Amino acid sequence: VFKKNSQNQRTILQTIYLEKDIEKHSRAQDIIKSMGKNLSLIHCNHYGEVFNPKSQNFRLQKQNPALILAKKTGRLVLPVPTGFGIGGAHNYYFSHMLNCLYDCRYCFLQGMYPSANYVLFINYEDFQSSIDATLAQHQHDEKIYFFSGYDCDSLAYEPISHFVQEFLPFFAKRANAILELRTKSSNIRQLLQLNPIENCVVAYSLTPDAIAKAVEHKAPSIAKRVQAIQKLAAAGWKIGLRFDPLIDDENFEKYYQELLDNVFSILSPSAIHSVSLGPLRFPEKMYKRIVKLYPNEPLFAQSLSTRDKHISYSADRELQMKNFLLDKIKNYVDTTLLFQCNPL
Ligand code: SF4
Repeated sequence: VFKKNSQNQRTILQTIYLEKDIEKHSRAQDIIKSMGKNLSLIHCNHYGEVFNPKSQNFRLQKQNPALILAKKTGRLVLPVPTGFGIGGAHNYYFSHMLNCLYDCRYCFLQGMYPSANYVLFINYEDFQSSIDATLAQHQHDEKIYFFSGYDCDSLAYEPISHFVQEFLPFFAKRANAILELRTKSSNIRQLLQLNPIENCVVAYSLTPDAIAKAVEHKAPSIAKRVQAIQKLAAAGWKIGLRFDPLIDDENFEKYYQELLDNVFSILSPSAIHSVSLGPLRFPEKMYKRIVKLYPNEPLFAQSLSTRDKHISYSADRELQMKNFLLDKIKNYVDTTLLFQCNPL
């Protein structure tokens, strides 16, 4: 059983690195102004100079990450990995940000990058051109899904990034492009100020309260997430529910049943866009890196083993957990709205 952790503290940002190519960009200037005077501004040629060196202490940096303002180049919109999606045939992701304000112990970002600093790619116009170019490869009547919360939380950084403010009006004009905002954030002020659009799903990641308290450090409580869901649904936004990853516990059934009762009691079926669930799974090498960072983490003391070059619960336990959830969720939503993510 997980114990409540005392790490739920906000971090204070002190340093901004500014990439040469975008130092005059109005969005970069606005962000710097909005951060106030108590920061040190450091210029760099390319964000990789700060972000990529391997000798960095991720765990220490995570306590007080710097912000790196940069320009994303290369491929800005990419196909999602196999097994990721919510029922659509055409699925892409784009990352305007690398790393996250929160610190979930199961998050692959901990083992992905050598740095815990936040990179914010502020050339939103280029992302939007790439989304248009991707749409142009498909028929107008096809639904194309774009996932924005793959390398970060889509809403958590909104007061600084203005990501939603900039991308919602863009998606509003492209009805066949579905935007998923994947989040744990209760930062919904911006969404509530905008008119809801049919082609945006605000997808909340949910874990039972006791487990969330133990492993989702710095993330809003489940009560706050449920409150945010309720407000967004009442305002007309389509809600996604993501039980992903499923985390085991000796009280697994009790905890997940309570969570389902809690969230479905405040949500009308008509507000639900989709419900998905997914297993806990780490690529082997990534898992080793994360365990090295957090060797005393109770999550990694659970019964995990190697399967298909991934670390996960045993196939039997994974199936039991998944079937328990599927069985229960079917009491609340139509099965056509229910999806399983099976990342490999
Ligand atoms: S909220 Fe998502 S992206 Fe952020 S640390 Fe948790 S799992 Fe990772």
